[in-house]
Amino acid sequence: MILILLGPPGAGKGTYSQRLIEAYKIPQISTGEILRTSVKNGTEMGTKAKGYMDKGLLVPDEIIVGIVSERIKDADCKNGFLLDGFPRTVEQANALGLIFEKSKLKLDSVINIIVKEDVLFKRLTGRRMCKVCGGNYNIYTLPSKVEGVCDKCEGALYQREDDKPETIERRLKVYAEQTAPLINYYKDKNILHDVVASEGSIEEIVEKIKTIIGK
Ligand code: AMP
Repeated sequence: MILILLGPPGAGKGTYSQRLIEAYKIPQISTGEILRTSVKNGTEMGTKAKGYMDKGLLVPDEIIVGIVSERIKDADCKNGFLLDGFPRTVEQANALGLIFEKSKLKLDSVINIIVKEDVLFKRLTGRRMCKVCGGNYNIYTLPSKVEGVCDKCEGALYQREDDKPETIERRLKVYAEQTAPLINYYKDKNILHDVVASEGSIEEIVEKIKTIIGK
């Protein structure tokens, strides 16, 4: 099963991905998470990417496509994978199409998560992440049991640099200009499914997605 989760920053892609990979026993490939790990480890790629990420801009396509094309060769991807935060431009989608063609892989579904802009803003400013395991929380909608501490690994929770209000606006603009065109791109391929996620619990949204995928 190969899935893409599409949606603006704050739509909940990370949260839904974590639930879906448990249900379908496939790995999550989050380009944002891979980049954050590279930044934390001070690798050459991380150093290059950090400037773009902190400003809320997209990291150049060639870096991202390289990351994904290598990652999907790993053994844990042999039964499929879930792409979270990739592709984010038409160029990346074209590159992915070529990789799939060469590797004889088939994309099953693209889930387009739709969330109203005021809800997105609140979700982004409330978001907290675990420094150790990358787990997602939200002080408004999904708080940890103990404030500032991860439920799963007891790591410290932090607010991402790019979740500060001044950067959020730019990220939403970048999404509208560079990523939203992918909605029609995949609609034209008859593979896109809209999921409205402004309201409802995480479990309800995950069930909606599972119903679509199961069809
Ligand atoms: P995310 O965690 O998906 O919101 O990604 C955080 C940041 O990493 C983004 O704002 C971009 O700077 C960078 N990034 C993640 N995925 C991509 C991608 N597919 N293309 C370009 N930049 C990306």
